[in-house]
Amino acid sequence: MKLQFLGTGAAEGVPAVFCNCATCLEIRKRGAREFHTRSQLVIDGELSVDFPPDAYHHSLSFGADLSAFKYILVTHSHMDHFYAHDFILRGYKYSDGLPKKKLQIFGNAEVKKVFEECTRRELRADVKENIEIVELIPFVPVTFGDKGEYTVFPLKAQHSKTETALLYFLEKNGQTYLHLTDTGRLPKESLDELQAYLNAKGKFVDFVTFDCTFLFKEAGEVSRHMGLPDNVAMREEFLRREIVSDSTRYAITHYSHNNQPFSENLRKAEKEYGVIAAYDGLTIEF
Ligand SMILES: [Zn+2]
Ligand SMILES: [Zn+2]
Ligand SMILES: [Zn+2]
Repeated sequence: MKLQFLGTGAAEGVPAVFCNCATCLEIRKRGAREFHTRSQLVIDGELSVDFPPDAYHHSLSFGADLSAFKYILVTHSHMDHFYAHDFILRGYKYSDGLPKKKLQIFGNAEVKKVFEECTRRELRADVKENIEIVELIPFVPVTFGDKGEYTVFPLKAQHSKTETALLYFLEKNGQTYLHLTDTGRLPKESLDELQAYLNAKGKFVDFVTFDCTFLFKEAGEVSRHMGLPDNVAMREEFLRREIVSDSTRYAITHYSHNNQPFSENLRKAEKEYGVIAAYDGLTIEF
């Protein structure tokens, strides 16, 4: 499985859209290497987890081929994770040579609503007919792909009071990936369900990506995001429940400008916590 981390910032971006705090000023001075744009991760070039307002920028900066996407797994409807307006351009006179006309977008009921709202004015019927919105229900696995090679098991996040934000356990050709943004520490129900699902299959997660909005700070039990101490608590819980093994690898992402995600701090996090601190443009294969 090839993971491309294209956007590793929180909703406001780093530097933040309208911000002149000391961190944002310093990051602007340092330049693009230190930027963290809005959340996007691409798997094997064809499946995108989330589709942020910066997806187009990711195609320009990192050569991500948006036309090659066949599947998009949307975690929730927050603007940094789902910018539906761009899909108006996926057809008609705007997009020649699409490798595959059909695009499937998976998400919760709110994602479906946001898609309708954002495309209501400009989406042509002949563009719309190639985009299928598939509503996912927590803890109900769905298999998809040309050869049925992907199975996704959606989990409930601890994130929003107005919608059920989803986290994704993904399996492809025997490899396993767990995507955990945006969320605080996982609800017990999600831990129980994931444990039962994996233990029944005799499988472990190969690679985990953690929400790390708070970086070195602890978010605690009730927060809707995490920091490294919370990631550690989750890792220990995963080990106890045999969701992960000793060879599981971990990345952190979704940094906020409020927590100084300078490159030297990310390297420090890697050293102290044994994680990969993702940055925009990082590719990992496992
Ligand atoms: Zn977010
Ligand atoms: Zn700032
Ligand atoms: Zn969110």
